[in-house]
Amino acid sequence: MEPLIVETPQVGASQVLLHPDRRVGADMDRWRNSGGGAALARAIQEPVGVREEVKLAELRGLGGSGFPAWRKWEAVAAEAPKPDKYLVVNGNEDEPGTFKDRLLLEETPFQVIEGAVATALAIGANRVVFYVNPDLTRSLAAMKAALKQWHASEFPVQTSAALGMPLELKLLPGSGHYIGGEETASMEWVEGRFPFPRGKPPYPAQSGVHGCPTLINNVETIANVPHIAVRGAAWFRALGKAPGTGTKLYSLSGDVLYPGVFELPMGTPLRELIFTHGGGLLSGKPLKAVFTGGPSSTLLTPVDLDVAMDFDSLRARGANLGTGAMIVISEGTGIVKRVAEYERFFAHSSCGQCNSCKVGTATMSRLLDRIDTGRGTPSDLNTLENLCTMLPGSGRCHLINGAVALLDSAFHHFHDEFKQALR
Ligand code: SF4
Repeated sequence: MEPLIVETPQVGASQVLLHPDRRVGADMDRWRNSGGGAALARAIQEPVGVREEVKLAELRGLGGSGFPAWRKWEAVAAEAPKPDKYLVVNGNEDEPGTFKDRLLLEETPFQVIEGAVATALAIGANRVVFYVNPDLTRSLAAMKAALKQWHASEFPVQTSAALGMPLELKLLPGSGHYIGGEETASMEWVEGRFPFPRGKPPYPAQSGVHGCPTLINNVETIANVPHIAVRGAAWFRALGKAPGTGTKLYSLSGDVLYPGVFELPMGTPLRELIFTHGGGLLSGKPLKAVFTGGPSSTLLTPVDLDVAMDFDSLRARGANLGTGAMIVISEGTGIVKRVAEYERFFAHSSCGQCNSCKVGTATMSRLLDRIDTGRGTPSDLNTLENLCTMLPGSGRCHLINGAVALLDSAFHHFHDEFKQALR
């Protein structure tokens, strides 16, 4: 088999998921010719072996949580079907600055399908739902074309025989709401209702879609499964910069010369991402800040340039890798305006189930707009500071926490800008 990692001299990038051999679109012959199907063969022969390999690989949930994937896998595998067992592949990607899953779905649909089917066999799931943001029309078209070929191939018969019951694969466009990406909200939509997040417990592993045991994994997480199944856990772990394992798709945007998706070792320092791969800042301006993990996290500043971009290293600094989105801000860009824009997004995205979130995000957005347009007062700033202490943990899902984390972090690093905006 050809090596899965190439060193691209000009950028030194490690590519597994986005290796040119993987980027065959919805062309099943090309996918087979590049080694496609090998992971499936192993999952059919030894599904528990694949589960064990994913555990040893220390694969994390790459949709934002960073939760060890194997823990959710084992919890669902331990449950009996009631009468079904679900795997939801979450491709609702809608966070500002995050645009990695669409690339995987569009350019590597068979990699995603093979990963999902191998996962389904490993946990004993008989229903797989590919849940994709409806605005990602090219991703949906590629998945639709790939699934059509999959259903016409020998794989459905083989996998159903291995599972002992029919293994159903379904493509489901999402609702178009950002909150629909929250895992319990995705289950509501799969059941045919508006994607309101559910309270927990019960957890999806015990009672998910239609009360059945359900595993929900992000597209990028699932896309890693075929490679771990074929190349092994040790190979996967060695791809990352410890404590990170594997590679990560970083979505780089904002004031950089070369925005885009970069597949790099998990734990690549921020400096390397921005200045080596992203070509540095536009017009050579100095770096001011980076919104990490999309806007629902804390800000990093130039003192953090050498921090490793992995879940644990960032958490140790009170930040969050999230989806791996990095929105770069250069000196000269007003933080108040950017934060006001993102808080407007959160207010618009709140599903309104929890009063604290509905009223809290709307109030934050309104006050920030007022401050940004020079109409703010010191009491507006006080109110915002109070909301930062009152709101965390008050909602059913994490949206409210993300909205507060952003504002709190912006106050911490750039409080003077907010005060100046009052004048
Ligand atoms: Fe909806 Fe906000 Fe409550 Fe989440 S925290 S369930 S988005 S109202």
